[in-house]
Amino acid sequence: MSKLSERDVAQFIERLDKRREELRWGLLDKLKDSGDKNYLELAGQVRDAGDESIADLLIDLSTSAIEREVEELKQIEEALRRIGSGTYDTCIECGGRISLERLDANPTAVRCKECQARLEDMRGGKDLTPSL
Ligand SMILES: [Zn+2]
Repeated sequence: MSKLSERDVAQFIERLDKRREELRWGLLDKLKDSGDKNYLELAGQVRDAGDESIADLLIDLSTSAIEREVEELKQIEEALRRIGSGTYDTCIECGGRISLERLDANPTAVRCKECQARLEDMRGGKDLTPSL
């Protein structure tokens, strides 16, 4: 069970929603500026998207210009989904709790601090840093 208070949860939803809207309008501008007919059509879908996933609409369009925004959108929508199912502060690796402090610093975190650190270690972490 989630141990976040209703107030905490409401605040996270507000933050995530706000960022989702920012990304939505930023992406809309980019799609419209492209002048591409297909992109314009997509822009309409993005504008009118309600609860459906904006990231999914754009998944085939991960050009480098919008890739980062789509990736962030994906994380935000996943976080909102996790809030909806009551697993927002549950680590996807170990099932432990993600601390409020960690979520506060990174509202789309899906792993507890320990699991995240382990993951980064596995990816090479320090070893990839060029030692000058
Ligand atoms: Zn964990």
